[in-house]
Parts: sequence; structure tokens; C-alpha cells
Amino acid sequence: MADKAERRRPPLVDLGWANGWRKTPPLVRDCKHKQADLSLGSCVRQVTCAECGFTYKYDSGDCGT
Ligand SMILES: [Zn+2]
Repeated sequence: MADKAERRRPPLVDLGWANGWRKTPPLVRDCKHKQADLSLGSCVRQVTCAECGFTYKYDSGDCGT
């Protein structure tokens, strides 16, 4: 059943853009896991920790020029 597979995966907390943080959220700061860091193109990268259940995006700002 598709419904079962979905329930196994906890919903990720979307922390938004790291560039807009005043300080790193404790969730991220305390994370000791191996995070997935994938490129969404146009300098944008998305970091996800499936263990902690968070995801956020950041603009690496160093692409292009
Ligand atoms: Zn983690």
C-alpha cells in the first residue's frame, strides 16, 4: 500500500533559506549526521538531514561571475 510507505518517512521541517538566518537553528547546529547537499541549479543548493528531519536551501552566491 502506498499509504504505508509514506507514513514511514517523517515530514521534513523546512527551515527556509540559510542566507536569511540570523543564527543557525539548533537543529542544524547540533546535527552530526551526514547531510545530503544537492544542487538545485543557479547557485542554489538544498541541504537535507533525513535523520533530524530538516531541510533548507542556501544560495552559494559564487557561481556565474
Ligand atoms: Zn541530522
